[in-house]
Amino acid sequence: LPTRRKLVVANWKMNMNVASATSFVERLSITGDTSGKVVICPPFPLIYPLRAMLPDSSISIGAQNVHWEDSGAFTGQVSANLLKELDCKYVLIGHSEVREAGETDGMVNQKVKQSVATGIDPIICVGETHKQREQGKTNEMVKGQILKALSKVDDISNVIIAYVPIWAIGTGLSAEPEQAQVVHHVIRETLHHSFGEIAEQVPILYGGSVNQKNAHSLSEMKDIDGALVGGASLDAENFSTIVHAFE
Ligand code: PEP
Repeated sequence: LPTRRKLVVANWKMNMNVASATSFVERLSITGDTSGKVVICPPFPLIYPLRAMLPDSSISIGAQNVHWEDSGAFTGQVSANLLKELDCKYVLIGHSEVREAGETDGMVNQKVKQSVATGIDPIICVGETHKQREQGKTNEMVKGQILKALSKVDDISNVIIAYVPIWAIGTGLSAEPEQAQVVHHVIRETLHHSFGEIAEQVPILYGGSVNQKNAHSLSEMKDIDGALVGGASLDAENFSTIVHAFE
């Protein structure tokens, strides 16, 4: 079997502009063979200029969301085909900040199917709230989100999962590596049960207050194959350090 690919993904959320993206690219210092390992997900209008700032680069671009229909009267939405044309290789789907704004498991599933059909690799975000963890519902919750997101998806060979516990987002309170590993293992077992051996090839990323200090210890866990980085991805130096922690 080929070794599982690693990925470090920057989620810029609703931050950055043309000037700050330009200086980010200038200050990025990623050395060695990181081809295909680094992804930046900027706000939609920055996808095109950012791609142009990274000519022949091994850095990939991802989107932060996508619509499930091909085209039509969907004001404010962006199609998978347009993202593909702009060279987006990845798309975040099911981020808790989007779910909180009304995205359902059914919508997540439709977006995943549309992305896979278009040839854009979906990064499916799952994770529990603080309350659900306290009630011992973490595994059940995450398992349910994964199975619903992948309902009627035949081929998961280009799917990426990100475990992003809601209580760890932007709080500075990252999950402990061992604590995250437990959930990553549950995710892999869930994939294994439904899809078989291919589960071993699916990258499972951890997200939630990843920074230049805790990235290395997270990277040492058996089922943590990379990171989804919010706050710390806005600084080129910090983000470069995190990328190198997952080499
Ligand atoms: C995120 O919400 O995708 C995330 C990982 O945020 P942060 O790193 O800021 O916790």
